[in-house]
Amino acid sequence: MSNGTMDIDHCTSWLEGFRERVTAQQPYLTELDSAIGDADHGANMVRGMAAVMDKIAAAPAATVGELFKGVGMTLVTSVGGASGPLYGTFFLRIGMNVGEVAQCDAPTFAAGLRAGLGGLVDRGKAEAGDKTMFDAMAPALDAFDADLASGGDLHSAATAASEAANLGRDATRDLLARKGRASYLGERSIGHIDPGSASTGLLFEALAEATADG
Ligand code: ADP
Ligand code: MG
Repeated sequence: MSNGTMDIDHCTSWLEGFRERVTAQQPYLTELDSAIGDADHGANMVRGMAAVMDKIAAAPAATVGELFKGVGMTLVTSVGGASGPLYGTFFLRIGMNVGEVAQCDAPTFAAGLRAGLGGLVDRGKAEAGDKTMFDAMAPALDAFDADLASGGDLHSAATAASEAANLGRDATRDLLARKGRASYLGERSIGHIDPGSASTGLLFEALAEATADG
């Protein structure tokens, strides 16, 4: 599978892997959001990704762009919490950026991810160190791009991105939240991992798996 392209099957495997991971890790995501939020992040992600996979099964997309735009719309409309519009805009922008193609090569996919991050920022205005999913996603995309630039393929880039996302997730523990519900806690948000950064770690773990050989 590691031929350096993301076709609809690879993209669907990525989304399915993300759904599996948020479902398996729902208790952990709930626990994180109980500490500094309202305990719904696990439920939000499970509901959203279940709706995404239902939509894909009911109406398969013909292009990668159509697939990701559909994912984005589904997340925006099916998830009540902040994470729905944020992940929704991320996927929507990926779809708009890669366009109506059957597959994308590694640089095109990397540019799509970058556009997705831009959407997340447009929507939520997060900056580095605000203790949000941005703090996992931005280093993940930097690692993804750096790996490709040094000759890596999609799988090695996604593996590097996954490692960087999880390091970013862990580093949110010491940060003071400046966006979202956790920001209401001020200093009391310090000492807890941000729930959205944890789900973003799962997103890139799923991408590494979906781009692996076999
Ligand atoms: P809610 O906060 O509405 O209950 P969730 O619990 O599903 O929604 O998602 C919370 C996560 O959303 C946070 O852990 C954080 O990572 C992310 N988040 C919240 N606000 C922002 C924002 N403005 N920009 C980026 N990410 C954000
Ligand atoms: Mg919440």
